[in-house]
Amino acid sequence: MKSKFQKVKGTYDILPDESRLWRKVENIIHSLSEQFSFEEIRTPVIEKSNLFNQNIGNGTDVQKEMFSWKDIAGEDIVLKPEMTAAVVRAYLENGLFRSNPFSKLYYIDSFFRREKPQKGRQRQFHQFGVEVLGGDKKGSDQDAEIILIASKLIKKLKIDNAQLLINNIGTPEERKKWNDDLKNYFTKYKTSLSKISQQRLARNPLRILDSKEPEDKQIILESPKFISDDKYEINKFAKLQENLNALNISFKIDPFLIRGLDYYNGNVFEITANVRKSQNALCGGGRYDFLVEKMGGPSTPAVGFAAGIERLIMFSNLEAQENQIDAYIICKHADYYEKTLKLIERIVDKKYKIYFATRWDKLKIERAEKMNAKFAIQVGKENFWALDLTNKKSSEPIISKQISGFLKELNFQ
Ligand code: AMP
Repeated sequence: MKSKFQKVKGTYDILPDESRLWRKVENIIHSLSEQFSFEEIRTPVIEKSNLFNQNIGNGTDVQKEMFSWKDIAGEDIVLKPEMTAAVVRAYLENGLFRSNPFSKLYYIDSFFRREKPQKGRQRQFHQFGVEVLGGDKKGSDQDAEIILIASKLIKKLKIDNAQLLINNIGTPEERKKWNDDLKNYFTKYKTSLSKISQQRLARNPLRILDSKEPEDKQIILESPKFISDDKYEINKFAKLQENLNALNISFKIDPFLIRGLDYYNGNVFEITANVRKSQNALCGGGRYDFLVEKMGGPSTPAVGFAAGIERLIMFSNLEAQENQIDAYIICKHADYYEKTLKLIERIVDKKYKIYFATRWDKLKIERAEKMNAKFAIQVGKENFWALDLTNKKSSEPIISKQISGFLKELNFQ
């Protein structure tokens, strides 16, 4: 039967079989972030359009792909396409820059971009990200700390052969000059570039370096290379490498690694699953030392990353936890629901896990077994009856026994 209603293109449902793995991954993320004393931030799903239009860069892919509309009050609203600008807004709007100027924040959230849907690329997707606001202007210690978090996560999720790529994209002025140089260079090869790169040439030539299209490959390889002349940036990039070496985190310098959004500067990085697939980027991040000030706050060094949860799950070798329950409970007749519910309450209060199967006349042992139940319990008019599924021992019907005595016998102490 075809359902009368279908989901929106580029979105998908996470059904229980899969959501168990999602929960496991999310639990790992929460406990890892807490180990590093990053605190969770949650911001609204909708924001005013200008937050992103003015801060992630006009003409960037992400800005072009926003779901935006004018609401009844005439305000331009978007579904948030990324988190950094939203976190900085919240940091400034809620006065965190005064009360907690050195903030270490993390989030797990949904984001929306009107991209061409394909495997590993959706229109609604999820990211885990961290943002460090404040901290040392000159050092790269926070950069190394967040890369350490990302690399621990990759290990915990059993993702094999992930690769860390790093680069330094210099100061905003240098980046602008590099963008102009690239524009001149790529314009010469315009007709040989892929369609997507031709579009990027008009909007944001730097992004052409991100292209995975075969016809762009050679042209990109011969494009002008960038090396920062800025004393701070040179030093910060060297420090980052020293820190990573000290942590035994292997990395590769990728001179073509840029980040898609305009607010980045200095050290940037990406972690990819080392496979030849186009959707192999697991995590991307870098410094954005000028964004807070640009958004009206005090000069605040900052660094962060975002990792796509769909991608992490796609490349993870973790298995979902098997569902396990302690007691599979059925009520023999509608007249005994009260008694059954009281039994359920007692068991749950003792922190055991139950599955309440109602309205069946007969206990379906196979179903209880499939759910990995330890006990199957049936509640009758005057008796309880239980089957210990761990060693298939059936109890005698326990006539009129008090619930607590019955539970004791089943080890639900
Ligand atoms: P970005 O915010 O573009 O730097 O992306 C950071 C990470 O989010 C990427 O490395 C991907 O893992 C993930 N990601 C970005 N866009 C999508 C998308 N449309 N669908 C699924 N994952 C995405």
